[in-house]
Amino acid sequence: MNCLESRCIERSALLETLAKALPDGSIRFNSKLVSIHKKAGSPFTTLELADGASITAKIVIGCEGVHSVVARWIGLETAKPSGRVAFRGMATFPEGHHTIEEKMVIIMGKGVRAGFIPCTDKQIYWFITRKLQPEDADVSCDPETLRCAALEAVRDFPEPIGEFIKCSSADTFSFADLKMRWFWPWEWDKKAKGRGSVTLVGDALHPMMPDLGQGACSALEDAVVLARCLSASNINAEDINWGEEEERKIEECFKKYAEARKWRVLGMTGGAFLAGNVMDGYSSFLRLVREWFWLPVISMSYIPYFAASDCGTLPLQSTPAHSHAHKL
Ligand SMILES: Cc1cc2nc3c(=O)[nH]c(=O)nc-3n(C[C@H](O)[C@H](O)[C@H](O)COP(=O)(O)OP(=O)(O)OC[C@H]3O[C@@H](n4cnc5c(N)ncnc54)[C@H](O)[C@@H]3O)c2cc1C
Repeated sequence: MNCLESRCIERSALLETLAKALPDGSIRFNSKLVSIHKKAGSPFTTLELADGASITAKIVIGCEGVHSVVARWIGLETAKPSGRVAFRGMATFPEGHHTIEEKMVIIMGKGVRAGFIPCTDKQIYWFITRKLQPEDADVSCDPETLRCAALEAVRDFPEPIGEFIKCSSADTFSFADLKMRWFWPWEWDKKAKGRGSVTLVGDALHPMMPDLGQGACSALEDAVVLARCLSASNINAEDINWGEEEERKIEECFKKYAEARKWRVLGMTGGAFLAGNVMDGYSSFLRLVREWFWLPVISMSYIPYFAASDCGTLPLQSTPAHSHAHKL
């Protein structure tokens, strides 16, 4: 496969769509988790929230991103800084952006990379990645400092990337110190399933470099595979006699989930790390590899290879409005 269709979707639109698919009242907002604990011998886990509330849970699925409290409790190492940073924003053109094609454009500089893609007919998403610099410590505090740093990074780049940065409102800016967590295959077997009836999905489990554009996609894949494993286990979470036996079945189910995700996640995490270092590499060696080997030989099939994955079907409750399975 050597063609790739990229589509851009705003985070809020994705979250609203996912939330709408759940029954009313399923989500409790503004619930910041501060700690998690479990009494020896108890099949229940207790979650302590910042507002002082606590929740007793039979099953916990941590999906709170790269700084996950649940991941720490499970015993995973803190995600490691990669030494690279990313700027992102959304340019808005109230009259429409008529001349920009519906495709991802990437521009490479010396140790800096920028890209953009239309998100709607009035919005263009852009990003910049480069090495971490000492002055980046101040960048994330203030949107205008961030805008200046982004413009400085692409100073020698052709337009329209600079114009997009200028046309982005400050509330769309973000700056990320890129972090990743690498597992060796044998570590994955021990740790990725979680601890007891507590497991992880998405960046909480496997934060990766953004260079394959697969982080959020893989979080959704995790959710589909985990839902399938839970559904196949025939465990009734409403069971009031929840005990050791149910917890053991859940552990077995999380083990199957981790096994199913292992090679895909390890491949993407390693693949994204390699792609990022070659594409943003500044040393003469990496530039040589990039110009003579990566761009002409590898890059056309590399990202499509990782993007072209089918994680299977999502079991849904059968209602007149839904079919039995939904394909992601
Ligand atoms: C520059 C850049 C570009 C990227 N480009 C792409 C791309 O093109 N395609 C792609 O698929 N992915 C991309 N990604 C990766 C993607 O953003 C992440 O992989 C994805 O957001 C992970 O989703 P998540 O739900 O696991 O975690 P997050 O999106 O981090 O969501 C975690 C949620 O948990 C909440 N939370 C955090 N702590 C707590 C707490 N203590 N208690 C309660 N809630 C908490 C947060 O508020 C947030 O709502 C990119 C990332 C970066 C940095």
